[in-house]
Amino acid sequence: MEKIYYNNPLLKRSSELRKDENFLKNILNSENVNFIPMRGDENYFISGKEEIKPLILKKQELELCTKEINLDKMIFLGKINEKFYFSINIKSKIEKNNLEIDQGDIITDQLRNVIGSLTELDSSYLALAKGMIFWHERNKFCGVCGSKTKTEEAGFVLKCVNKNCNESHFPRTDPAIITLVSNKDKVLLARSSRFPQKMYSTLAGFVEPGESLELALKREVYEEVGVNVNKIEYFQSQPWPFPASLMLGFFAETEDTDLNVDKNEIEDANWFDISQLKDLTHPDITDGFKLPRFDSIARRLVNDWIRRHE
Ligand SMILES: [Zn+2]
Repeated sequence: MEKIYYNNPLLKRSSELRKDENFLKNILNSENVNFIPMRGDENYFISGKEEIKPLILKKQELELCTKEINLDKMIFLGKINEKFYFSINIKSKIEKNNLEIDQGDIITDQLRNVIGSLTELDSSYLALAKGMIFWHERNKFCGVCGSKTKTEEAGFVLKCVNKNCNESHFPRTDPAIITLVSNKDKVLLARSSRFPQKMYSTLAGFVEPGESLELALKREVYEEVGVNVNKIEYFQSQPWPFPASLMLGFFAETEDTDLNVDKNEIEDANWFDISQLKDLTHPDITDGFKLPRFDSIARRLVNDWIRRHE
């Protein structure tokens, strides 16, 4: 079974508790709580000789790092095995000598940079914390009237403080389609100049207002490589909080084999057969190529297609 990151079901969001301020305040003062500190959009980790682990703080440890342990500074992430998880953005960097950590160093980093060292469950609460802090950082002021906003519902609502406006703002996530296009026994992979060196991936793009997933998929594929797709089949979805996307994965088929590549978007695109996908070689690509990151839905689309066509 392939690992699925950023979306583990053991993290129970317990959204029904978000409005229960008294309950959450009591929990904050209990022993039954773990705090996930953030520094802006970077997560905190303990970096040891052999492994990197998330930095998880107990109440007493958090008190050594910040004085602001109030519910309105917290984002309630949910429960894992009956333990309550909160995230807090700590502006001043947490230093190792604040805490009693025997081994390793405290570091901050982008979640994606260390994902290879984390469990699927770790990746899930860290991704939620990151996505929520990102949204908070960009919504300190009301988009309607420009007044300040304040936290409600354990961080999941930002409410305008201007009583005449009173607008509630909710966390946003941007839907994006991602699709593996195939023609008989070949699949289409492409690379953008923004990709890591040598990486070829599936096509992807954001859904626009007033657009269905299917039409967004057809539009993006046509824009990027000039082929018309039919037979669209839903695969899976994956949150991708880098910074705020939800990837919706599809398989699509096309009769067209000639590509008309949009050079502004796509540096190179090719058709690949199974043996080329397995060997990571292609006659038109010097010195081979790489498939997408193991934690991405793009990679799962490719792997799933290979399994189905072996
Ligand atoms: Zn307002």
